[in-house]
Amino acid sequence: MGEEKKEEVVSEALKAEERLRSKWFILTPEGEMKPVEEFDFTGYEKLRKFAEYEMRKSRVVEREPPHTALMRSLELADYEPASDPGNLRYYPKGRLIKSLLEEYVTQRVVEYGGMEVETPIMYDMNHPTLAKYLHRFPARQYIVESDKDRYFLRFAACFGQFLMAHDATISYRNLPLRIYELTRYSFRREQRGELVGLRRLRAFTMPDVHALCRDLEEVKGEFRRRFLLSMSVLEGIGLSREDVELGVRVTEDFFKEHREFVTSLVQLFGRPALVEMWSERFFYFVLKWELNFVDALDKASALSTDQIDVENAERYGIKYMDEDGREKYPIILHCSPSGAIERDIYALLEKAYMEMEAGRPPMLPIWLSPTQVRLIPVSSAYVDFAEEVAGRLEGRPVRVDIDDREETVPRKIRDAEKEWIPYIIVLGEREIGRDRFPVRDRRRGEIREMSLEELAEEIEEASKGRPFKPLPLPKRLQRRPKFVG
Ligand SMILES: [Zn+2]
Repeated sequence: MGEEKKEEVVSEALKAEERLRSKWFILTPEGEMKPVEEFDFTGYEKLRKFAEYEMRKSRVVEREPPHTALMRSLELADYEPASDPGNLRYYPKGRLIKSLLEEYVTQRVVEYGGMEVETPIMYDMNHPTLAKYLHRFPARQYIVESDKDRYFLRFAACFGQFLMAHDATISYRNLPLRIYELTRYSFRREQRGELVGLRRLRAFTMPDVHALCRDLEEVKGEFRRRFLLSMSVLEGIGLSREDVELGVRVTEDFFKEHREFVTSLVQLFGRPALVEMWSERFFYFVLKWELNFVDALDKASALSTDQIDVENAERYGIKYMDEDGREKYPIILHCSPSGAIERDIYALLEKAYMEMEAGRPPMLPIWLSPTQVRLIPVSSAYVDFAEEVAGRLEGRPVRVDIDDREETVPRKIRDAEKEWIPYIIVLGEREIGRDRFPVRDRRRGEIREMSLEELAEEIEEASKGRPFKPLPLPKRLQRRPKFVG
């Protein structure tokens, strides 16, 4: 039959998560902590939604969130019926956005001190260390059978980096040791009813930076540094502090001993945070935080995260030589400064949708807009002129294209607006020989007289500190296929 269902490999941690009894609190930057039901959420509407979502623990999707229609209509990404659900395809514009985000996050992690590595995507099911780790991680795996051997597809970058650290000779002088990989992909067999769009996938791109630290004192400094890095990375992507809510998960013991330190993170965030407290340590970490995005359907998704892992150095036999000549186990931090790249795109799309609901034009951040400037010649007689104008922007980090289709100008403007293009310039007889052009500015909702120099500078300013890639499609619209019908 071939249809026979093999028993699913479910980790002990995942089972534990289902049994887990949590206590929920709100912790303010001033250090006050109240049970969730006693907190006054006036002025903290999103935090309330986040708390309600987390306390329900249900991940089932009842309604299609708005970003799934947008990812298709903007020709970014789509479901792939020939694959397992939750493995998506990316069209050129989606691939551009994704690769810009990948490069940006990597650049920021390298600046922070991350050493980039690359590790295998599948591992031996029977490897003694890994088999134990599988059971301490709350995720479901894909199993790959090859001849008589069984492998699992990695669900995080941890294994590869830990095995590498196990084999390395590490001195206290090397700490904190920061190892980084952007996994494309990590795989998790999320439950079918939970899969949705770019929010919850089975294959995702995860920047993952671990830091091996000497002791808790070093951990504290490093943890704060990475917290600030994460908030700054999200801002660079286009998600402000107001777009996210802080969630902290902690064991009761750790909290009691280090309350001031936990509060200092909430202080850095600047707004009250949701705290989930466990009486026992079910997982390998004692403290974890995430920055969560609350979407148009009031569902929360974790983006950035960091964890204090007190277990895996020993499990993986990762040691460093301390100043006193003794070998010791480091404490390991697991951080993703942006969360899954797909989720960042999801958050940006949901945010744009919420803007639209509020009566403002939906947009992607300018640095991620596949086309930044659309030139619209009023007729085919002006296509060469449009080419010449586009040529004047050549060499600048600006993505400009030309709508050379045989369509009316209003139709072309409407189509450019449907693509959320930030700047549109209509070119006809009046524009020939001029230095300044009437630029339709989407963000401001007005037409501005600008020189090409001013326009290029504005785009460069809005993209400062982030990578640039050229147009992902032919410059002329007539040469482009339609990917989504
Ligand atoms: Zn990890």
